[in-house]
Amino acid sequence: MKKKHNPAKAIQNIKQFGEFGGVNPSITDSATFTFLGAQTMLDTFEGEAQGCFLYSRHWNPTNKYLADTLAKMEGTESAWVTASGMAAITNAIMQLCNSGDHIVSSITTYGGTYAFFVNYLKKFNITVTLVDISDLEAVEAAITPNTKVIYTETMTNPLLQISDIPELSKIAKSNNIKLVVDNTFTPMIVSPAVLGADIVVYSMTKFINGKNDCVAGAICASHEFINALSNVNDGTSMLLGPALDPLRASSILKSLHTLHIRMKQHSHNASYLAEKFEKYQLNTIYPGLEANVGHKLLCNMKNHGFGYGGMVAIDLETPEKASQFMELLQNKGVGYLAVSLGYFITIFSNSGSSTSSEVPIETQHKMGLSPGLVRFSVGLDHDIKASWTLIKQTLEELEIPNS
Ligand code: PLP
Repeated sequence: MKKKHNPAKAIQNIKQFGEFGGVNPSITDSATFTFLGAQTMLDTFEGEAQGCFLYSRHWNPTNKYLADTLAKMEGTESAWVTASGMAAITNAIMQLCNSGDHIVSSITTYGGTYAFFVNYLKKFNITVTLVDISDLEAVEAAITPNTKVIYTETMTNPLLQISDIPELSKIAKSNNIKLVVDNTFTPMIVSPAVLGADIVVYSMTKFINGKNDCVAGAICASHEFINALSNVNDGTSMLLGPALDPLRASSILKSLHTLHIRMKQHSHNASYLAEKFEKYQLNTIYPGLEANVGHKLLCNMKNHGFGYGGMVAIDLETPEKASQFMELLQNKGVGYLAVSLGYFITIFSNSGSSTSSEVPIETQHKMGLSPGLVRFSVGLDHDIKASWTLIKQTLEELEIPNS
């Protein structure tokens, strides 16, 4: 039975004040910090001086406010904020794996993650087996004595496949390995740590910030893991140095407090479009649709009241059709032809030639990624009916589906 968790309420209960009683916490734009006594500095190096800050690559008070709030949202003991989503992913993995180790990963992940696993980790003799993450027997069968991590995305990019986090967690626990989940597409909607994930990573560039004005990431996990990551002697994040700028952390923290409302509206608009696409007989992927293979699983895992997410995909079969369609949509003002997601304006891209272009064509075929897939990150449009009218006009103009 799923534990009850309300991420929006968990955030609201946090009270953080600024200097002089400011309603927002103060921004600490200092790289280094003074100590009144030399012994306290030594203790801080040892990780023993509670509440003392040493250097902003290690910890910064503003980053800590954001990290504490994210930990509350996820139901984890702790969190650490990074300068990008890729920094969160790469640091979590490098902290968990040593040379000679092995990872079992979903074959469908963000293209950058795929490239890190398949192209980059070779340098360190870390191997990765890619599996269909919904095939739990295949996941189990891929585990070897040197496997350290099962890696997946709650809702995969770009196929919006739903990962069975409770079952994957059981597999991980019974093999004494860690389950790492990228929850970038479904903040608030799903709380992977509450469902059994050991480590939750985010690209905060997307829904969490929602303003498309910076890149940022987060790692949410146990105290033990976050302390190990930021350990001055051998912590991956302390030594590789991807700390988030505190000015950005302050800005993202304020966005985080409106995330629950934004997710509801993204979900509402995406559901509306997905139903229209489906009725229009387009091959539509949206886990909120009853016909979607992941629908029931998402219903079982999701928190109440935030919908099914803002991401929808349709298959226009060829990249040429997809390009014509997206250019016309942009010209009509439906949204932007751009990579990324989670923005207040609708964004669309042809996944195979953009955010999944790192994935070789044969692998794209294997994972079921059509070359004509158009992925929508549906915005916060006040009048989504008007947006659908423009999209429908465009489909008719291009004679899609072909009659
Ligand atoms: N995870 C997912 C699911 C993504 O879609 C992305 C980027 O698109 C990332 C991670 C990487 O995040 P960033 O661009 O912030 O490094």
